[in-house]
Amino acid sequence: MVSLQEILELSQTATSADKEIIKKAYSYAEKAHANQRRYSNDPYFDHLTETAKILAELGMDYSMISAGLLHDVIEDVQVSAEELEKEFGKEILFLIEGVTKLGKIRYKGSNKHNESLRKLFVAMSQDIRVLIIKLADRLHNMRTLSFVPKEKQKRIATETLEIYAPIAYRLGIRKLNRELEDLAFPYVYPEEYVLAKKVHQEKQNHDIERLEKFHRSLAKALVKQGLKPLHTDYRIKGLYSLYKKWLKKGKDTEKIYDIAALRVIVSTVSDCYKALGIIHGTWRPYPGRIKDYIAFPKPNGYKSLHTTIFTGDGNLIEIQIKTEEMYHESEYGIASHFNYKSNKQNFKKNQSTSGFMWVKNLLPNMNSSAEKAKSQKITNLKDTVPNWIRELVSYQKTTVDDEFEKSMKRDFFEERIFVFTPKGDVIDLPIDSSPIDFAYAIHSDIGNHTAGVKMNGKFVSLDTKLKNGDIIEIQTKDSSHPTAKWLELTKTTMARKHIKTVLPKDKNQDQ
Ligand code: MN
Repeated sequence: MVSLQEILELSQTATSADKEIIKKAYSYAEKAHANQRRYSNDPYFDHLTETAKILAELGMDYSMISAGLLHDVIEDVQVSAEELEKEFGKEILFLIEGVTKLGKIRYKGSNKHNESLRKLFVAMSQDIRVLIIKLADRLHNMRTLSFVPKEKQKRIATETLEIYAPIAYRLGIRKLNRELEDLAFPYVYPEEYVLAKKVHQEKQNHDIERLEKFHRSLAKALVKQGLKPLHTDYRIKGLYSLYKKWLKKGKDTEKIYDIAALRVIVSTVSDCYKALGIIHGTWRPYPGRIKDYIAFPKPNGYKSLHTTIFTGDGNLIEIQIKTEEMYHESEYGIASHFNYKSNKQNFKKNQSTSGFMWVKNLLPNMNSSAEKAKSQKITNLKDTVPNWIRELVSYQKTTVDDEFEKSMKRDFFEERIFVFTPKGDVIDLPIDSSPIDFAYAIHSDIGNHTAGVKMNGKFVSLDTKLKNGDIIEIQTKDSSHPTAKWLELTKTTMARKHIKTVLPKDKNQDQ
């Protein structure tokens, strides 16, 4: 169990009023789960305090820490939404309900649909804060997976590896991504894990010694040329990420140069390039391994300069050069943006919506000019937030802060369902859509020749209503054409438009 004191100390952005709410959530959760135990036989409450601690360590605000403490009360002890709202307010209730809803999406273990499932997961979460709480929840469950019955372990670990870890990666939260992957790896690929461990050990023993030595020469070279780095260290690649690299390199251990990498942290972007110049002037770079992720950040927002150099003793070493801020972002990703020093004040200005502010700041189009002027972090965010997440967030655009509740009800996702093609692509449709809507959403030709439909592998009639997560397969026949009845079965404007244009023509053709 993590003590309240420890959580409060970690909650650096919390005011004393915020801390009162965390305190209240802490004792509320303790009472609510008093009679429950985990598979480990530890009190269930431990899971909640550990989840809250992970969130506090990520620098999340009081509402997320409180929601972390309370995230299982709806599902596990049937506390009502009304009561939670009365005790903790709308925002914390919203977060808890979001996490509860996400808990209902089940991973069915088909690799084909993983990308879609990830998208569905993100879409269903409605708010990136919900995703982050869910990631923290999963991280603690993974840390304690050894206590879970064997037959469940693999499913949970696979889900972690296929859905949660990639989402953490896309959000740029490397810290969570790495730990989730490495915890899940041995359960999902036990043999490969043993192998990776061996490769890791061989490389590591060898590398660390060299790194220690080279690390000092590097710092010396930089200082000698007038550049004092803020910090230099090295990092060892996670086991799962090593395994993936090893597969990518045709299982040739010798071709993996970045199991261990040196990190150089400097003050400014121009110092990054200066450091690169000094390094290349001192050691010969290995061709084709110089990567400028500052000018061209990775899709998840990662920024850094990478180079691999000949150390002079027959070895190669990868060096990563970044500023402190880039380093912070590379570890915490999206999460870093609403706790990073300079942002604190902005988030404190408006207590009632402080948690939501940053989500608004992810939006590509800022409405008010006051917000435009607020700070340059908006530009930073636009650079670092992956596009597909920004698109999703943009659906969540809220009009005014005090319309929080209304906007939630109006939410895009509340009125949409997400279904899959047999290939696993997500098609989003209005609630109560029919297979005909689905067919037209794929292509008008498919719509115009729909003859039958399989839902989750079984034939169903064309008036069947689609549900979230259904896999839909449309059967077409050249001889099939829309009928007037189809208009009654469709919800989407697109489908109606196509049906209407085809209908009169059909009559003529029938002669
Ligand atoms: Mn939980």
